[in-house]
Amino acid sequence: VTLQGSVLQPLWDYLRLHHSSTLRSPLFPVILSVSSYFVLCLPYLLCDVAGKKWPAIYRYKIQPDRLPTFTMMLRCAGVTLRNNVFLVFPAAVAQWAWRPPVPLPEQAPTLLELVGGVAGNLLLFDLQYFIWHLLHHRVRWLYVTFHAIHHEYSAPFSLATQCLGGWELVTVGFWTTINPVLLRCHLLTTWAFMVTHVYVSVEDHCGYDFPWSTSRLIPFGVYGGPSKHDVHHQKPNTNFAPHFSHLDKLFGTHSDFSFIKTK
Ligand SMILES: [Zn+2]
Ligand SMILES: [Zn+2]
Repeated sequence: VTLQGSVLQPLWDYLRLHHSSTLRSPLFPVILSVSSYFVLCLPYLLCDVAGKKWPAIYRYKIQPDRLPTFTMMLRCAGVTLRNNVFLVFPAAVAQWAWRPPVPLPEQAPTLLELVGGVAGNLLLFDLQYFIWHLLHHRVRWLYVTFHAIHHEYSAPFSLATQCLGGWELVTVGFWTTINPVLLRCHLLTTWAFMVTHVYVSVEDHCGYDFPWSTSRLIPFGVYGGPSKHDVHHQKPNTNFAPHFSHLDKLFGTHSDFSFIKTK
């Protein structure tokens, strides 16, 4: 069988031949998502630290004059660290101990398979989290016990993304792990989805609506992006979907309203 000419084949061959043992480890997806989280938070943190001293950037702040303080950043980093040490790391070690290393297929996915797989995973997660999120806002006990921690800040900033309770992190982690398997995605597609998912989640909370926001790059208001999720933190009974906007429009929970006039 000749390998079909996927544009991703050279990249896949390189990874497969030179980094096989790293990539096959069950720890790899965990290391990938944790490290991409901090790397992707960093540029936004720099924007926050610079604040008004960097007017070209500051003009895109969704809620001006509501920059995070150092204490807020430290608190969120602490929650994330606690979750990683007590939940993510043990789960990863358990997987590492009980699951055999995954085999790497010879063939790379086509670019279309990769993009389609990432989009499919985002859509599926969007639906699952929408239901979870709606429930955790409508049932008082669920809200107070599990989700309130994520709403400590009404002006979100990058590190608030993973300022989550343990139960929420476990649920989110379960879906992002199991969905690519259910959708029969290639490993490269799975990893691309994980990094994309971290990127859009951080962007949702970054507090800035840049010209390159996903909601601006993806036309017709299909994608919610940072402006919509920022509204969820201002008005918690709206915009429950994490990624796209169709579910909130369908269920009448969509809101463009912001305390701040959109630029
Ligand atoms: Zn949020
Ligand atoms: Zn919420």
